[in-house]
Amino acid sequence: MKEDLFNYFITDNKSGKKCTESWLSKNNFELCNKIINWCDINNLSNLEFKRKVYHYVSNCIEIPVCLNCQKEVKYKRFIDGYQKYCSSFCQNNCKIAKGKWLESWKNGNSNNEHIINRNKTILEKYGNFEEYKSYLQKSVKKTCLEKYGVEYVTQTNFYKEKRKEVLLEKYGDDKFNNPDKTRTTRIKNGTQINDEVIEGFSDYKKVVMNRTITIYRNNKIIINPKNLKRSKKEYHIDHLFSIKQGFLQNIPIEIITHPCNLQMIYYKDNLKKQDECWITKDELLNNIISYDKNIEFKHEYLKESYSNIIEIAKSLF
Ligand SMILES: [Zn+2]
Repeated sequence: MKEDLFNYFITDNKSGKKCTESWLSKNNFELCNKIINWCDINNLSNLEFKRKVYHYVSNCIEIPVCLNCQKEVKYKRFIDGYQKYCSSFCQNNCKIAKGKWLESWKNGNSNNEHIINRNKTILEKYGNFEEYKSYLQKSVKKTCLEKYGVEYVTQTNFYKEKRKEVLLEKYGDDKFNNPDKTRTTRIKNGTQINDEVIEGFSDYKKVVMNRTITIYRNNKIIINPKNLKRSKKEYHIDHLFSIKQGFLQNIPIEIITHPCNLQMIYYKDNLKKQDECWITKDELLNNIISYDKNIEFKHEYLKESYSNIIEIAKSLF
């Protein structure tokens, strides 16, 4: 944040005139030019001028997206910047279950304290992670039996209906499924998150996806050197070590979103791959430790949180 300029633009500017190109070019031509140039350099040429002013003063290169769904958000005014959410739906959805969790990620968890502490608590209480996992699975079954009379939520009718809806919307086919890979066996194998912890997983995934896009944008040349087209029915960004395993094995966001864990994948292959991993955790950690390309970070806070990435990787073996 450029403090002096921030004060300049909030002083005597109730009408917002200072943030218009016509006023600024008349009254502070040099600054006006600086802002336009800076935006051109940073790929923000298409923004309306008042938003350019905001981006320039707050050193913000990325256009913010909804914290809940990653869709575009509205720009409010200079002093507030962008809205955090695209809609009140997203805001409520985020607030009730996930707001605090996300805040803690943003505020203090880039250094992975959260995960380290959580692991410590689990070890103290259960002795090892296997024990913890089996405890979780047992308690999920128990709750489910009491609530619905079946061991897994997936066996209930409302789940089956809901799933059909989701599949129809997502794949255009309400039966899209790999029949020999039912959810139940996947839970048993530890490759599927069970419902008891799915709140945590969806939060984890959301943060990972968001960060992945940022890392991708900053390092497109490394991750997508052939400049393949990214879209729903073309290429996707894929995590070699999957997000789901990342969550199950408490892998920090910085590790799972490291450029060496990202590749472009044709969407059909991505559907086939589902949540499986191309590499093992140890391979991923080794790749990070021996990584020799320069990773770009346009945000200071990101640069900071990845600065000790090798140490973090070493500590995870
Ligand atoms: Zn949204």
